[in-house]
Amino acid sequence: MKNKQILKSCILICCILSLTIVKLKADVSTTGFKIPPSYLVSGTLNVPNPTLKTAFKFEVTFMRNLLSTGGYEDVTNATVTLVYSNCGQCGNYTAVSTPRQLQNSDFTTASGLPKANATLSLDSELPANLVTPGNPGTLYVRLKYFDSNQNKELIIYTNASINVSISPAWISPEILNIISNMDFATDDATATGNYYLVEQDIMLLKDYVNFYSSNKPIIPIANHNINILIGQELFSNSIWYDAIYRAVMAWNSMPNNDIKLNLIKNAPNFAQPQQIDVRVTESSSLNKVPVISEFPSNDGKPGRRILFNSNFRYLSNNSTVSLDQATWNFVQAIGHCLGLRHAPDQMSVMRGGTAGSSYNNNLNSTYDTQTISALFPKNATSQVTPFISGLDKLRPMESANYEISYTEFNLNYSWKVIGINGTNYLENYDYIQGSKLPEVYFPAGNYQIQCTITGGKYNGSVMATKNIIVN
Ligand SMILES: [Zn+2]
Repeated sequence: MKNKQILKSCILICCILSLTIVKLKADVSTTGFKIPPSYLVSGTLNVPNPTLKTAFKFEVTFMRNLLSTGGYEDVTNATVTLVYSNCGQCGNYTAVSTPRQLQNSDFTTASGLPKANATLSLDSELPANLVTPGNPGTLYVRLKYFDSNQNKELIIYTNASINVSISPAWISPEILNIISNMDFATDDATATGNYYLVEQDIMLLKDYVNFYSSNKPIIPIANHNINILIGQELFSNSIWYDAIYRAVMAWNSMPNNDIKLNLIKNAPNFAQPQQIDVRVTESSSLNKVPVISEFPSNDGKPGRRILFNSNFRYLSNNSTVSLDQATWNFVQAIGHCLGLRHAPDQMSVMRGGTAGSSYNNNLNSTYDTQTISALFPKNATSQVTPFISGLDKLRPMESANYEISYTEFNLNYSWKVIGINGTNYLENYDYIQGSKLPEVYFPAGNYQIQCTITGGKYNGSVMATKNIIVN
């Protein structure tokens, strides 16, 4: 009886002992994996172009146990592979790294002593056309190892995963083909927001390109009085404000065409005309060229946006944009808004790759005047429809500035303020000859500011008015 009990105890102890040994022989495990930040965008692996292969590195950390006998688990029966799936852990994985067998030497300190953990930095490559735009997929780490518990080879996938994303700048080959059919170069085309950027500075609306039909006839821009809205960020910046002002003046002064650009100021308590055609806004993200603009979408209207970066620096010499360079860029940007493409002519302000060029008060290249007058032939009966920008309401004797939207070389402006709605007032500002009426103030009442333009390429005169309330 006693022997039997001793035997029982023996078996029990043996069992515990062997269990302990098995448990101690549990094999290597992964404790995490990551991809270096330079390959990530918002925590996802960035695929710049899914039709090409994407090479990157990944890091896996491992842990192995200390044996009761001293020393560490032998890890050489384990292999690690990075795998890709576009259905989560559905079982359908594609290996995207060469399987790497773990080495005991991976688990050593700097001085060569064995240790429990290891980090491996390994190469991986997503093959071309693996990642699809609608379902970009996920990366997992696969660990194949011999499990002593179960006495067989096991495969596990880490719960940790990293999603894959296609760069928002990528444009599919189908769309590139359309852009090419539209006669734009596609070599440096990228996608941003709701447009494709081509030839460095031309924005094509995605909706226009995606639904482009070469069968649709070209619809010319119907209204040649084009209102360009500028915000405070522009007219409080002397270089960039002077630049848009000079660019508009250059366009309006070009002979033999019908383009009439109006600069409209946007500020609190500044009324605006009903129709705004082009908005000029700051964009700090521009880093290849200082100004980009939107090409028309064949709807009879100009392109609607010009973006500029007042903090832009040229890559070649890190210099800021001079007034003449800013003017040149705005002149070309306006041209793109009007549907002009990059010109082959060396003298043209529309030639491509000239973001560093300087405007020198001369836009009369033969190519430009011919192209532009062919697109927008001068119309003798056409009228300028100017607009006066400035505060709608003033306090009595509060000083304000007013400015007319239309400028051209050799125009005459005459400013006048009359009382309206019962206010008796008349003042002629004969000493003002320019497009700006600076620092005027009035007693309480109702007034109409009048500016009459004469001269320039449109003979005759045109008057703009603005009603203001002073109270
Ligand atoms: Zn351009």
